[in-house]
Amino acid sequence: MSVPDEIRLLDERDPLRDFRDRFVAPDDENLVAYLDGNSLGRPPRATADALAGLVTDGWGSRLIRSWSEGWMDWPLTIGDRLAEATLGAAEGQTAVADSTTVCLYKLLRGAAAMRPGRDEIVGDRQNFPTDGYVVQAVADELGLTVRWIESDPAGGVTPEQVGEVLTERTAVVTLSHTAYRSAYLTDLPAITELAHRAGALTVWDLCHSVGSVPLALDEWGVDFAAGCTYKFLNAGPGAPAFMYVRGEHLDRFAQPIWGWMGHRRPFDMAPGYQPAPGMRRLLSGTPPITGLVGVAEGVALVAEAGIERIRAKAVELTELVVRLTDQWLAPHGVRLASPRDPGRRGAHVTVTHPDGPALSERLIAAGVIIDHRAPDAIRVGLSPLTTSFSEAYRAMAVFRDLVRHARRCG
Ligand SMILES: *Cc1c(COP(=O)(O)O)cnc(C)c1O
Repeated sequence: MSVPDEIRLLDERDPLRDFRDRFVAPDDENLVAYLDGNSLGRPPRATADALAGLVTDGWGSRLIRSWSEGWMDWPLTIGDRLAEATLGAAEGQTAVADSTTVCLYKLLRGAAAMRPGRDEIVGDRQNFPTDGYVVQAVADELGLTVRWIESDPAGGVTPEQVGEVLTERTAVVTLSHTAYRSAYLTDLPAITELAHRAGALTVWDLCHSVGSVPLALDEWGVDFAAGCTYKFLNAGPGAPAFMYVRGEHLDRFAQPIWGWMGHRRPFDMAPGYQPAPGMRRLLSGTPPITGLVGVAEGVALVAEAGIERIRAKAVELTELVVRLTDQWLAPHGVRLASPRDPGRRGAHVTVTHPDGPALSERLIAAGVIIDHRAPDAIRVGLSPLTTSFSEAYRAMAVFRDLVRHARRCG
């Protein structure tokens, strides 16, 4: 399908256009567009080489000596690189380990324990399911009550809504920065300030922000944060997540999964847990070295591209998709379910249609990989390092042709 000059020009002028070639080209003739990089980022070519190198060199040749030759420090050194490239955080406050789910549990449990006597947690009912489960689990475990905010599924949590439930009983406020459903960008600095004024701590989920939206965790006063590396950081399926703990909290912070890798002296093999100083106390078991290889490569690409340029392209890509939604899809019953203001929108665009599930299936069958979110939403993910303007345009044209017939086909 041909693409208009206007769109081709956007690609020609894109300062990040060459990054596409730094990723493995899919061996799939049917593929028109991959618009799910916000769920599983594409593999950098460098990762294939680095993983092969790990097998032959570090693991294959240096064998167990590699632990003392660097591997032991990877969760913290790679965490520091991630912090510098994407979080706006100084070193010594970030570790890469576990899944986001486990990281959220560790942070929330530890944060709640730092506010003894307070018996409420504030959460968002529309947040990603795992976040809600973890909030409820920690609340049940500690005998706390959850004050759920009912946010707009096509928007997100506002500072006003947080203000309504914050009291002197609130121990922790835990929310996502970018809403996984709508891509709504929550006003993180304002909500963090509100929480602090009420004497509460904050735990932020950054899964859909890290690697797509510039962050300034140190400057914004964030207490704790966690997020995925396999989305916009392209670290690979199941790659370990990251945790951020504000430096001033570290000495007093205790996480609940005590393991030998978070111990002050793991190789003493001593009974009795003593947490390591600094971020190492966030670790529990043996670091996932194969997964950390992918994190290091993904972070290096984002650092090279620059988060400000990534953000600028995300805004342009989502603006294009919103414009084509209005022009081509809205007349056929497709509704925008993401913010119109690009300043309040992350790097995906969500639309809804009564035939959402069937349309999603047909889009994927036609080579446009999006994802479906029950009951009627379709998420169009626009990962600036791997998505071109032409690719997004072609995908939207396929969408237009399918939705024209959606009603007739049932
Ligand atoms: C993707 C995502 C997760 C995923 O958690 P895992 O433990 O990696 O499965 C959690 N929370 C949010 C908001 C997400 O977008």
